[in-house]
Amino acid sequence: MKMNCPHCKCIARLHSLHAAGLLFREHVYCCSNPFCGHNFILRSEVGHTLTPSKIPDPNVHIPISARARKRRENKEKREAAAAA
Ligand SMILES: [Zn+2]
Repeated sequence: MKMNCPHCKCIARLHSLHAAGLLFREHVYCCSNPFCGHNFILRSEVGHTLTPSKIPDPNVHIPISARARKRRENKEKREAAAAA
């Protein structure tokens, strides 16, 4: 994953990756500009579910996005109307 240095805007290269659980990671980036030398951490986490897993882990709780929830509600309404 490419990232730009927030200070000099040059390309920063991924140096290492630290997994801090199944839902959270930290990526260490190093700026490629030798005149800058900024090293920084990019944090990423699983934020929302867009499509639910077909084999969900009961110990994993990820909120469903508002859009996906609305889509699921509409599908359930269509199926209820078709069954009636
Ligand atoms: Zn930089």
